[in-house]
Amino acid sequence: MYQEFISFTKKTFNTEAFIPLHAPIFLGNEKKYLNECIDSTFVSSVGKFVDQFEADVAKFTGAKHAIATSNGTSALHIGLLMAGVSKEDEVITQPLTFIATCNAISYIGAYPIFVDVDKETLGLSPEKLEYFLVNNTEVINGECINKSTKRKIKAVVPMHTFGFSANIEELVSVCNRYNIKVVEDAAESLGSSYKGQHTGTYGLVGAFSFNGNKTITTGGGGMLITNDDAIAKKAKHITTTAKIPHPWDYEHDMIGFNYRLPNINAALGCAQLEKLPYILERKKVLSNKYDTFFKDKSIEYLRGPKDSNSNYWLNAVMLENLEARNYFLKETNEAGVMTRPIWKLMNTLTMFKNAQTGNLDNAEWFEDRIVNIPSSVII
Ligand SMILES: *Cc1c(COP(=O)(O)O)cnc(C)c1O
Repeated sequence: MYQEFISFTKKTFNTEAFIPLHAPIFLGNEKKYLNECIDSTFVSSVGKFVDQFEADVAKFTGAKHAIATSNGTSALHIGLLMAGVSKEDEVITQPLTFIATCNAISYIGAYPIFVDVDKETLGLSPEKLEYFLVNNTEVINGECINKSTKRKIKAVVPMHTFGFSANIEELVSVCNRYNIKVVEDAAESLGSSYKGQHTGTYGLVGAFSFNGNKTITTGGGGMLITNDDAIAKKAKHITTTAKIPHPWDYEHDMIGFNYRLPNINAALGCAQLEKLPYILERKKVLSNKYDTFFKDKSIEYLRGPKDSNSNYWLNAVMLENLEARNYFLKETNEAGVMTRPIWKLMNTLTMFKNAQTGNLDNAEWFEDRIVNIPSSVII
C-alpha cells in the first residue's frame, strides 16, 4: 500500500526526483513586477506595490481593509493587540496549530488556554469552547473572567487548519455571548471560504501568511484584514512605527512596530495574487486525484468540512495509529516523497506545559495519526 502511494505520487508529480511538501510556483508577472520595483528604487518600506497588494487582498477576500505586515506572525501579534489583549490577559486557542499562533499570544505577555478541535474541521470546536466557557468563566461588567486564575479572557483564536474552515460562524456566536473578540488565524486559508464568505472576515480581524510554503508567497510576508475602519487605521499606524504623517517631521505618538512589508515583497505578492484563482483550481485537481486514489485504500484522505470551500493548501491523510503513522513517514521520506506529521500539541511544549486546557481528546487522536502529503501545484 505504501509503495503504491509512493508510485502514485511520483506519477502525479511526474518526477523521480525528490518531491517536497509544498513548493511555490511562479507563472505570471513575478519577474516583471520585481524588475519594475527595482527600477523604481522603491524596494523597501513604502511603495506602490504595498498599496496595490493591500487593495488586491481586500478585494479578493471581500474584507473592507487589508494591512500588509512583515509576516503572518506579526499580523497575528497586531490582530491580538487590536482585540484589546494585553499583558496578563488570557487567549483561548487550539492545541493543534503551528507555534506562531502561541508565539503571538506570548509576545504580549498573555497566556494561551487550549480548547479541543472539532473532528470534522480540525479547527477549534464551538461545542468544546462553549463547554469550557460555561464551566470555567463568568461575565462580570461585560468582561469574561476565568474563575480559576481571575484573569480576563480577551480573545479566541481559531485556526483554519490546512485551509479547512473552522466552524467560524458558530465560534463567533459563542464568543459574542461571552463578549470575547475573535482573531482568525487564517494564515493557511487564503482562498478558503465558509458558506461562501472568505475565512478571516468573520472575526474582528483575520491574519494571513505569505511565507514560502503557503498557497501564495511574497518570500516572507503577512496581511491583517478587517471590516472595522477604526481598527484598520490603528493597525496601519502601529505596524508602521506609529509615525504621524508629515513631509519631514519625525513625530511618533506611541510605541509602534516596524512590521512593514517591503515593497519588493509586495511586488511578488501582486503577481502571485493574480494567479491565485488558477492555483486554487489546480490544487483542487490534485485533491480530487488523492481522493480517488485513497477511496479503496486503508488510509483515510481528509476532504474537509461540508460547509466550506477549501484551498487544499496541505493535503492530509489519517493513518490507523501512531505505529502506522511512523512507518508511513519513514517509508515515504526514504523514497524521496516528503511527508510530515501534524504539529506536536502546543500544550506538550515546554513553554506551554502549565497552560490551562480543556479535554483534548480529538487533538490527541489527530496528533498520532495525521500526516501531510505532497501538495504543490501540478500543471
Ligand atoms: C504559517 C503560519 C503562521 C505564521 O506565518 P509566518 O508568515 O511564518 O509568520 C501562523 N499560523 C499558522 C497556523 C501558520 O500556518
